Amino acid sequence: MTAKVIDGKAFAAGVRAQVADAVAKLKADNGIVPGLAVVLVGEDPASKVYVKNKHASTIEVGMNSFEHRLDASTSEAHLLALIAQLNADPTVHGILVQLPLPGHLNSDLVINAIDPAKDVDGFHISNVGLLGTGQKSMVPCTPLGCLMMLRDHHGSLAGMNAVVVGRSNIVGKPMAQLLLGDSCTVTIAHSRTKDLEAVCRGADILVAAVGRPEMITGAYVKPGATVIDVGINRIERDGKAKLVGDVQYESAAAVAGAITPVPGGVGPMTIACLLANTLTACCRANGLAEPKGLTA
Ligand code: NDP
Repeated sequence: MTAKVIDGKAFAAGVRAQVADAVAKLKADNGIVPGLAVVLVGEDPASKVYVKNKHASTIEVGMNSFEHRLDASTSEAHLLALIAQLNADPTVHGILVQLPLPGHLNSDLVINAIDPAKDVDGFHISNVGLLGTGQKSMVPCTPLGCLMMLRDHHGSLAGMNAVVVGRSNIVGKPMAQLLLGDSCTVTIAHSRTKDLEAVCRGADILVAAVGRPEMITGAYVKPGATVIDVGINRIERDGKAKLVGDVQYESAAAVAGAITPVPGGVGPMTIACLLANTLTACCRANGLAEPKGLTA
């Protein structure tokens, strides 16, 4: 079997176009422009690239982008004061604090200072609780992107066996909650799981969010299963820098029914879902109907 490739790049372009249309309509009908504020503390090179890309994508869909770059030595009090200011600003509908923060700053404290209604990363403890209890929340972007692609590919996910490898707060756990919300039978696997290969082979939907390059081979995949590779790993092969996922693509694609590639799978969906979440937050803040198909 050769798996169907789930083209995250094309799917994300569709989501961005849908967001752009909705933003144009909001402007024309209501005179409202959604605004996303991104806060970057310090000089982490990968974070700088992410923030630059987020800024460009926000502008591209017609939203306002507010960038706040703070020195690596910024005090917690200063950062919290900025967040309070953004919480109170009616032109800001989404707030994202780029992680990781420098070691002297308490990430939990900072994230939980964001107004949950503007928490477009979905990391605030209130949003975690709302998602866990099946209530309307802001949903973390990467798992939301995975869910959208799965719904698009399968239609209903009800009754499917889903295995999520990884139990982080930003990917694994919210992914599992979303799949449960769509009535999958969900297993969360992690570094202490016994016979991971056998557990994974029981999955109709296998989500790999491990952070280990190409760990999930074809031997972990049930024939015909859908494989979602969240991993982004920079490795060196044959003297060249290469981006690979947590899934060994060739061997998994030979067994799976459908698979997301790396790059070009989950990655592009993450920023698209950040824009979708900002639009959703803006609509909720203004008491307007939420865009269809862009939320969980
Ligand atoms: P974390 O390091 O926070 O979590 C990794 C999880 O994998 C942990 O729960 C860990 O288990 C589990 N794990 C590690 N080794 C094994 C193993 N040998 N067998 C089974 N489970 C294992 O990573 P994240 O969730 O933040 O990210 C996961 C991957 O997704 C990374 O490659 C990251 O770069 C990528 N990512 C991609 C994004 C995108 O936009 N596409 C966005 C965010 C992340 P335990 O808890 O027991 O330690």
